Amino acid sequence: MNNNGIRFEFASDAKNEGLARVVVASYLTRTNPTLTEIEDVKTAVSEAVTNSIIHGYDGKAGTIVINAYIEGRELSLEIIDYGCGIADINKAMEPMYSSKKDGNRSGMGFSFMEAFMDELVVESEVGKGTTVKMKKKIGYDLETY
Ligand code: ATP
Ligand code: MG
Repeated sequence: MNNNGIRFEFASDAKNEGLARVVVASYLTRTNPTLTEIEDVKTAVSEAVTNSIIHGYDGKAGTIVINAYIEGRELSLEIIDYGCGIADINKAMEPMYSSKKDGNRSGMGFSFMEAFMDELVVESEVGKGTTVKMKKKIGYDLETY
């Protein structure tokens, strides 16, 4: 966190996922993002938070923390849970890998985070939880016009 950052936490209820997305999006507005940049960040937050809810806590009660800060034109995000953790991070991050076999998951969450953000780092410890760190430079879209 730096001197402009935000930190907030919420219960791992699926109903809070939309709120988390909107909080980060409104924090981001100070960088004058394009609509595409806002959508990209919202998608990444949504995927990470949904993972904490359905995998990290497996639908049980838990706390999710989000840290966000802006340095220059770069947004940094941390989505933290204290759930089951990930045994094999490389495998989990493979496109189309999902540990849930119920047919509802396509295993594309990490791939979307990777595609929509500039940097993605996942730290996890089994039994302790997972931290997803992401960065995205904002404002560079405009320079391509
Ligand atoms: P989709 O996101 O497409 O619905 P998915 O959630 O299974 O499917 P990813 O988001 O790419 O796919 O995650 C891959 C796998 O990594 C998950 O199936 C799960 O096993 C593991 N995983 C991801 N996030 C967490 C987390 N916060 N805690 C524990 N396991 C996780
Ligand atoms: Mg997912």
